[in-house]
Amino acid sequence: MVVTLVLFLVGGLVLGKAADLFLAKAYRDESLRAPLLRCQECRRRVAHRDAVPLIEALNLGRCTACSARLPLRWFLLPVGCSAMAAACYLEFDDAGQAAVGAVFSTLLLALVFTDIERRLLPDRIVLPGMVLAAGLAWLFPGMSALDTFYGGLVGLGIAVALILASLPFGAGAFGMGDAKLILFLGILLGPSAVVVAMFASTLSAGLFAVVLLATRRRGFGDYLPHGPFLVMGGLIGLLWGTEIWDWYVR
Ligand SMILES: [Zn+2]
Repeated sequence: MVVTLVLFLVGGLVLGKAADLFLAKAYRDESLRAPLLRCQECRRRVAHRDAVPLIEALNLGRCTACSARLPLRWFLLPVGCSAMAAACYLEFDDAGQAAVGAVFSTLLLALVFTDIERRLLPDRIVLPGMVLAAGLAWLFPGMSALDTFYGGLVGLGIAVALILASLPFGAGAFGMGDAKLILFLGILLGPSAVVVAMFASTLSAGLFAVVLLATRRRGFGDYLPHGPFLVMGGLIGLLWGTEIWDWYVR
């Protein structure tokens, strides 16, 4: 149904904008009464209208007063959430499942930006995400309540193994935030899809690192946040994890 698809596209946009406003509010060091959206250069208040993704795109993502670049998150987070909501609708048979998928996609995509901007996967997103996943993930196709439990165990196992493996590389190589995100993904995706997610994220992070090294943009030992890759793997796992697993096992 085209109408429902459009509804999901718009709904995802709204969810993403809500997440963006939450991050803007949560991560400002100013008083709570200060304007929500402010240009980082000229400090002028940015009209809410100008933060609407479509209008922001028309302004080329720049402040209308001083033409400084506005945070990419304002634009990318809503558009990403919109695309994921549509993908969930197209992939899942049921609109209810797709709506739940869109909510989890929004939580995960928000983490991409907290990790890039602040090098942080905040507990106040990841922990409620885990609780929500424990309560809702059995709704997804091919999942049962038992799968969320086993998925959590597998996620915990992977996280502990990665922490132990990263110990020789010193603090910061693999953070507790990454570990909690993997546990969240395990509960959300179940035991087989979380393995697919981890494989996809490791593969993409590896490719990305090779490109960075080859183009000399970064050297060995430079910091590369794990969060965005874990989220990318998680989204692949959410949409196609069980299918990829079944295809591989057969
Ligand atoms: Zn400005």
